[in-house]
Amino acid sequence: MSRAPARTPARVLTVAGSDSGGGAGIQADLKTALALGAHGMSVVTAVTAQDSHGVHGTWELPPEAVRAQFRAVAGDIGVQAVKTGMLGSARTAATVADLLTGLAAPLVVDPVGASKRGDTLLHEDATEVVRSRLLPLATVVTPNLDEVTRLTGVVVTDEAGMRTAADAVLALGPRWVLVKGGHLPAARPGTDCPDLLTDGRTEHWLRAPRHPNPHTHGTGCTLATALATHLALGRPVPEAAAAAKTYVTGAIAAGFPLGTGTGPVDHAW
Ligand code: PLP
Repeated sequence: MSRAPARTPARVLTVAGSDSGGGAGIQADLKTALALGAHGMSVVTAVTAQDSHGVHGTWELPPEAVRAQFRAVAGDIGVQAVKTGMLGSARTAATVADLLTGLAAPLVVDPVGASKRGDTLLHEDATEVVRSRLLPLATVVTPNLDEVTRLTGVVVTDEAGMRTAADAVLALGPRWVLVKGGHLPAARPGTDCPDLLTDGRTEHWLRAPRHPNPHTHGTGCTLATALATHLALGRPVPEAAAAAKTYVTGAIAAGFPLGTGTGPVDHAW
């Protein structure tokens, strides 16, 4: 029996760090792309030795390795959306900003600062590079509340504060911002988990039930890549963000224990 020739799926590129434990970073990103029907590709910026308790070592790739990976996939294969995650140093952040300048595809910037377990994933001097060089290139930037403070100085304690924070991030140049409210002080099981998506003209509150599951490693990576994947599939930003929120909410609800620490979200839900 002959099969019809296979169709090339949407191609999404993650520029991020490797998590040897398989829960976050590049590994979460590639699983997300696959689960949503796209072909995931990677530019590895750093390798982390990581288990269910945290990061035990980090090794950055040299700029020429970052550039070579990017040129290989962008040239021959082509990218329909890009997501950036862990960048580590100012040098890597600047290399990535150089590569993405003039990019024709949508760009989702997850301005990863530290892991939930407290490991540093972006050095202090790299924050300025992300702020001044990467955010102006972004179609959507997806900060959590700690990252909003790191980028803008705005401290958020309630939903009204999320609006102020969104305006402060938009002033740095991205087209849209998705402020993630999952760590609001009032957050508790049984309440909604609110995220605010805005481009300064329209405002979309994305709400989902909060799951008491402690196994949430990789949540931010997964949301940003789901968003990039839906953009690669041709969806407008509000629709892509709502679909990404639905995906990550399901993955959090299905998160599973791993090792003796905190487990990851599940992409096979
Ligand atoms: N490790 C890597 C390589 C990451 O890129 C990230 C998040 O971006 C993390 C760990 C942290 O994941 P989480 O904060 O969800 O535990």
